[in-house]
Amino acid sequence: MDLATVRAVLDARDGVRWEAGDAWLAGGTWLFSAPQPGISRLWDLHRMGWQPLVVGEGGLEIAATCTVAELLAFAEQPDGPWPGARALMAGCCRAFSSSFKVWNSATVGGNVCLALPAAPMVSMAAALGGVCVLRAADGRERQLPVREFVTGAGRTCLRPGEMLRSLRLPATALEQRTVIRRASLRPGGHSAALVIAAATPGSGRFALTLTAATARPVHLPFDRLPTPAGLRKAIERAVGLQMIVDDVHGAPAWRRHLIVHLAEEARRVLVAED
Ligand SMILES: Cc1cc2nc3c(=O)[nH]c(=O)nc-3n(C[C@H](O)[C@H](O)[C@H](O)COP(=O)(O)OP(=O)(O)OC[C@H]3O[C@@H](n4cnc5c(N)ncnc54)[C@H](O)[C@@H]3O)c2cc1C
Repeated sequence: MDLATVRAVLDARDGVRWEAGDAWLAGGTWLFSAPQPGISRLWDLHRMGWQPLVVGEGGLEIAATCTVAELLAFAEQPDGPWPGARALMAGCCRAFSSSFKVWNSATVGGNVCLALPAAPMVSMAAALGGVCVLRAADGRERQLPVREFVTGAGRTCLRPGEMLRSLRLPATALEQRTVIRRASLRPGGHSAALVIAAATPGSGRFALTLTAATARPVHLPFDRLPTPAGLRKAIERAVGLQMIVDDVHGAPAWRRHLIVHLAEEARRVLVAED
């Protein structure tokens, strides 16, 4: 793809002076795949030197520049902390409708900031209580839960010149038992619905995160495991038809049916494992 309007690619380490028409460049897998008529300069995040994954007592910090391939390697290593959460991370990496070639360049931050409904890094982070660390051009930072950061299809709370520095996943959420269910019109296709159920060991608490079918993540916490009827009612109450995505990857009525069906399937798996 020729980006005919781009005049300069600048190194983001060199002190950012943000102007109208500027954009951050991460893996470029989306930026270089579609016309970008409004963009005149790109600030390249490639050489920021951020450690991709930092495991600490408080949880896991994923740098925005961590690639999907790096996250998948971490998620699928045989030993390590949080096996349940890492299985979920692997499932979300594999939910990309792209091949490993794209995973080697695509970043977690680029996926979250692009905020497509089928963004699997949004699904993963929303289910695991992820918090966005956002950095303004003057270096000031603020934090926002991923569930609030994504406000609609392709819409986020990013301010002009602000970048996503990292995602923080708290240890308590990483201890959860999780089940992921996904459907698409064809094998390996764009997700039409992606549902994650999570149970907090020892507490009886249960939560559902609905993505891909909905324009933004929908998180439904329950004090205890709901009945099938209770689960259906909660989803129908929270997700109106106007919140369901209507595009070539699936009709809204089908997607709405899918989230109820997949949520019940995931609920049953958690019950059976208990
Ligand atoms: C074949 C193919 C299949 C794909 N399948 C999917 C899919 O299933 N689901 C999906 O969601 N996407 C999909 N994509 C789109 C894209 O590849 C992914 O969303 C990818 O994760 C974007 O990451 P990137 O690092 O390449 O971002 P880039 O293309 O570099 O940037 C994407 C956007 O995010 C902004 N951005 C990047 N990093 C930051 C940051 N740290 N702070 C602030 N803004 C930032 C950029 O300015 C740009 O607007 C697909 C792309 C291809 C080519």
